[in-house]
Amino acid sequence: MPLDRKYFQEMEDKIPKGKIRTRFAPSPTGYMHVGNLRTALYTWLIARHGGGTFILRIEDTDQTRQVEGAAEVIYRTLAECGLNHDEGPDVGGPVAPYIQTQRRDTYGRYARLLVELGHAYCCFCEKTESEEDSGDFDRADDPCRALTPEQAQARVDAGEPYVIRQRIPHTGSTTFHDAIFGDITVDNDTLDDQVLIKRDGLPTYNFANVIDDHLMGITHVVRGSEYLSSAPKYDLLYQAFGWEVPTYVHCSPVMRDAQNKMSKRHGDPSYEDLREQGYLTQAILNYVALLGWSPRGERSEQEVFSLDELVEAFDLNGVSRSPAIFDMEKLTHFNALYLRAMTPEEFAREAEPYIRRAVKNPGLDTARIAALLQARCERLTDIPEKVDFFDALPDYDPELFTNKKSKTNREVSQMMLQAAIPLLEALPAWTEAEIHDGLIGLAEKLGVKNAVLMWPVRIAAAGKAVTPGGAVEICHILGREETLRRLRLGLEKLS
Ligand code: GLU
Repeated sequence: MPLDRKYFQEMEDKIPKGKIRTRFAPSPTGYMHVGNLRTALYTWLIARHGGGTFILRIEDTDQTRQVEGAAEVIYRTLAECGLNHDEGPDVGGPVAPYIQTQRRDTYGRYARLLVELGHAYCCFCEKTESEEDSGDFDRADDPCRALTPEQAQARVDAGEPYVIRQRIPHTGSTTFHDAIFGDITVDNDTLDDQVLIKRDGLPTYNFANVIDDHLMGITHVVRGSEYLSSAPKYDLLYQAFGWEVPTYVHCSPVMRDAQNKMSKRHGDPSYEDLREQGYLTQAILNYVALLGWSPRGERSEQEVFSLDELVEAFDLNGVSRSPAIFDMEKLTHFNALYLRAMTPEEFAREAEPYIRRAVKNPGLDTARIAALLQARCERLTDIPEKVDFFDALPDYDPELFTNKKSKTNREVSQMMLQAAIPLLEALPAWTEAEIHDGLIGLAEKLGVKNAVLMWPVRIAAAGKAVTPGGAVEICHILGREETLRRLRLGLEKLS
């Protein structure tokens, strides 16, 4: 029975037109890898730069790879990154549903239409998945391609399991255009009759992406260059339906090194991992934007970009064909820039949980500690080990009191602490200014350089050679009682 064409006309009528429409189409894997985040960002930027619409579509037709809560990871990441979508499973839209497993019926109808048009056929052969994946195919051997529609229908009616395959022409060539890679031509006889609908009735990615991109009115298809080799088959599908081909934007991979793509399976960090390692979302986005895209014109030297600036500056001409290498040090550099550019209040808010990992004493003011850290950390996760001494004085070696540059040794340090303790005891108020002026005055009185006094005070207060902040700030944060306790302890160590 021929298909009812009214359905297809209604679907056509629903397609929004006239504006740029892009989509981010992740598979719900449970994490966002860096390459995916970059695809999401570029896709969003193309839409926003052109005043268009950004759509989120969840590609979950591979039922063997379902991960609990994976869609939430996608929603959360996009929201955290400020890559808001105008249409999607959680916000709806004119071409809903936006989850592929909810569009099953649609793919089935379009596949049958394609069979009717002669561009696809039912295949009843038993083939293992590895054969399907290997790319080793011999079309001439597929007996199902030669079945008449009536023969095939009879076997379908008899309940034989089948897949639907694309009927690729045996001759000729297919040329498609990619915005980054230009025109690419392949001979059709190098293309396999790929599966469009699997035995379980669900579409393959290869079929669903074409149907959805068309029915959702997608104007720019942005994705990884691993799909480049399949693009001619997609083009043949668009042609078979008589549909306009969208602009393809295939992005080169993000690599770990010259040979290897970044991959979660091989231990490369995902977006979530980077967040956990103390990187700020804005720094990650900024760095990821520049992995494969460079600004041009008057912005060509610019390195730090807000999301708004990216929207303004982003253009496809700046997207590179060469793979980009992910460099952790470069990311760290961006992170430090973003940490320093925060207001002290913002930084204190971000830093607090990391300070609290090491500093449990509620009496210690995390904002004051944060102020010492802002210029001195590259990643938030650097913080705990830098500030642990505030909570508990480490068991340190009295040799730390000896420092060439400050001209101190044990004897000098002992004298300095002996003088500093009564001074600090007697200070009228425990403010930074009082502590500072008191100690400077004492050094002057003793006829020594400031460092000769400050070094032993800081070592006794912190028990560490390297600390964020100097003696004055550390004593101030510790409070008078704890400072004196520590200085007396230092003195004991020295006598
Ligand atoms: N679901 C595909 C992926 O996660 C998306 C490819 C595309 O954007 O067309 O890689």
